[in-house]
Amino acid sequence: TTDIDKINPDYVRSFQVENKLMPSTWIVIRIDGCHFHRFSEVHVFEKPNDEHALNLMNSCAVAVMEKLSDFVFSYGVSDEYSFVLKKDSQIYGRAASEIVSVIVSLFSSLYVMKWREFFPHKELKYPPSFDGRAVCYPTREILRDYLAWRQVDCHINNQYNTCFWELVKSGKSKSEAQACLKGTQTQEKERLLNLRFNISYNELPLMFRQGSSAFWDKKDATTVDKNPDACCKRKIVVVHSNIIEPSFWEDHPWILD
Ligand code: ATP
Ligand code: ATP
Ligand code: MG
Ligand code: MG
Ligand code: MG
Repeated sequence: TTDIDKINPDYVRSFQVENKLMPSTWIVIRIDGCHFHRFSEVHVFEKPNDEHALNLMNSCAVAVMEKLSDFVFSYGVSDEYSFVLKKDSQIYGRAASEIVSVIVSLFSSLYVMKWREFFPHKELKYPPSFDGRAVCYPTREILRDYLAWRQVDCHINNQYNTCFWELVKSGKSKSEAQACLKGTQTQEKERLLNLRFNISYNELPLMFRQGSSAFWDKKDATTVDKNPDACCKRKIVVVHSNIIEPSFWEDHPWILD
């Protein structure tokens, strides 16, 4: 047996290797639901897009941003959310495992706590979990490329899934629907939706096509004079905008300032 008094704490601690994220870079933490393909089936999510499930994700993301400081932006689609920390944030000394673990656990417990609010008539059958990772982006431009990549992914997946589920709803098996869409280009999918199902892709809800972006509304900070009771209470807004286009960032210059 070990003699407790002989253990040198520095020696034990020396096995904890550094996991600090690079200073002066935008930290992005992306979380993603574990096995949500199954979770969405067990909980009978509407396919391809369950609006209540997306609103639940958005509500959890807003609560995370309110509870932990230093978040300037977040973008969500499907079962994932990307949280952007301000460049010079010192949260948890920029230690990756602490930051990721606290976001993932907070998000998961919020998801469970808020479930009833969004699914009052559906029982939560088992505890959902999320994985998370942290990546540093050194410039505003690269950070915007990252966000654009997630939004392009949203578009591509949504277009495919919309076609897939229309084919399934029209009587095709899942493997037939898959075979039908194999190798098709964007324009062919748009034509399929148009001609066969009378759906124009651009008229689908914005949240499904663009995902959701949450950020602090600058306007609120300036309303202090008019309404002293609402003093300094900044609010987080959720929008469904095209964040690939420069105009979004030109219209909201304070987000990445
Ligand atoms: P992994 O654990 O590797 O992330 P996963 O099953 O979660 O596996 P994802 O690639 O993350 O796979 O995809 C999430 C899946 O969850 C989607 O394919 C979709 O089936 C389902 N899903 C998530 N959100 C919704 C929603 N709002 N409406 C309908 N289905 C959803
Ligand atoms: P941090 O966020 O830095 O971890 P903390 O407040 O959680 O801060 P810890 O060092 O983790 O601080 O200590 C946990 C504290 O939680 C204990 O000091 C104690 O006050 C309280 N605590 C935890 N478990 C119990 C318990 N079973 N009974 C009573 N108090 C508890
Ligand atoms: Mg995953
Ligand atoms: Mg997932
Ligand atoms: Mg996912």
